[in-house]
Amino acid sequence: MNHNDLPVPDDVGISSPASIEGLRAQIDLINDDLIRLISRRAELAAEIGHVKTLEGRPHHYDPAREERQLKYIEEVNPGPFSAAALKSIFKEIFRASLDLEEANDKKQLLVSRKVQSADTVLDIKGVRIGGDAPPIMIAGPCSIEGEEMMEATASFLAAKGVRILRGGAYKPRTSPYGFQGMGIDGLILGAGAARDHNMLFVTEVMDTRDVEVVAEHADILQVGARNMHNFALLREVGRSGMPVLLKRGFAATIEEWLYAAEYILAEGNKQVMLCERGIRTFEKWTRNTLDLSAVALAKQETHLPVLVDVTHAAGRRDLLIPLAKAALAVGADGLHVEVHPSPATALSDNEQQLDFAGYEAFEAALKPLMGALNVKL
Ligand code: PEP
Ligand code: MN
Repeated sequence: MNHNDLPVPDDVGISSPASIEGLRAQIDLINDDLIRLISRRAELAAEIGHVKTLEGRPHHYDPAREERQLKYIEEVNPGPFSAAALKSIFKEIFRASLDLEEANDKKQLLVSRKVQSADTVLDIKGVRIGGDAPPIMIAGPCSIEGEEMMEATASFLAAKGVRILRGGAYKPRTSPYGFQGMGIDGLILGAGAARDHNMLFVTEVMDTRDVEVVAEHADILQVGARNMHNFALLREVGRSGMPVLLKRGFAATIEEWLYAAEYILAEGNKQVMLCERGIRTFEKWTRNTLDLSAVALAKQETHLPVLVDVTHAAGRRDLLIPLAKAALAVGADGLHVEVHPSPATALSDNEQQLDFAGYEAFEAALKPLMGALNVKL
């Protein structure tokens, strides 16, 4: 008997072309279900990502959660796939979901150029910062120490065309025994000196409880490097509606810095300027390492003005001019420098503040790069 004559059993229909079509049709239906389910899953993942961002958790990857899901998949795997094969399929889904979470979320950030492509230009009582405005100079002593020194500094700087006076009344000191600032008395002196010379006054606020009183006296609230991660403070300065100078934390990534700004914008306050002030690295010959790539990158990623504080970045006077030139060359919208009538006797940062002659040299070196800096009020 020829093998062609053997009867073909019904249950081996797998080899018949008609049955393949039938099975493929079933697979197509399952694919539809899978696509629907995976897409629903992706929507949920994206939603989780957004909630994480609002909660101030910039890192969306959660390895512990992923581990638990993989373990569960292994436990309930009915076959015929091996546990390893099924897990690798799910790992692909996890990866795509994470990409989606992060991409979606970036898109929605108010600080992002994806939301607003044009530069934000702050206009604080006629002083414009960012965009097409000429680079701005913020200068003044590290700490407000008394009326005379504030008056002398304000008068000197105003005559040089500086329109924003700085000075700390609440000082974030490494040691609790260091000079902590004059508090409200300092605010009154700083605001008075600025007012007398038609300048704006910027000063640091460290505590949510002080936002109101600092806002009463200052034109710009400074959030210092040590408080960049103080989310309650960020929200509070956001709610105040005041212009904010947000320093980058010395161990903060660029992403964390932008998320910190997002906290302020999320409260409906768009008047934010970022300030790079150096990050902590292994280098010991400078107080911090000025991260100019962060300035260039922040300018690219966000529409907010980006300033550079050369004083705290360098921690030494001899580098201020070259660092300031470099900052302007990478596109900084302004500079921040500490100036004190007598740095040697200053109650804080006396290694790095410029005296008046030092500021004159600084200004002369930068004048060609700063355009209208010297325009008188
Ligand atoms: C300051 O500007 O007074 C200050 C303390 O700076 P930072 O927060 O950058 O250290
Ligand atoms: Mn200082």
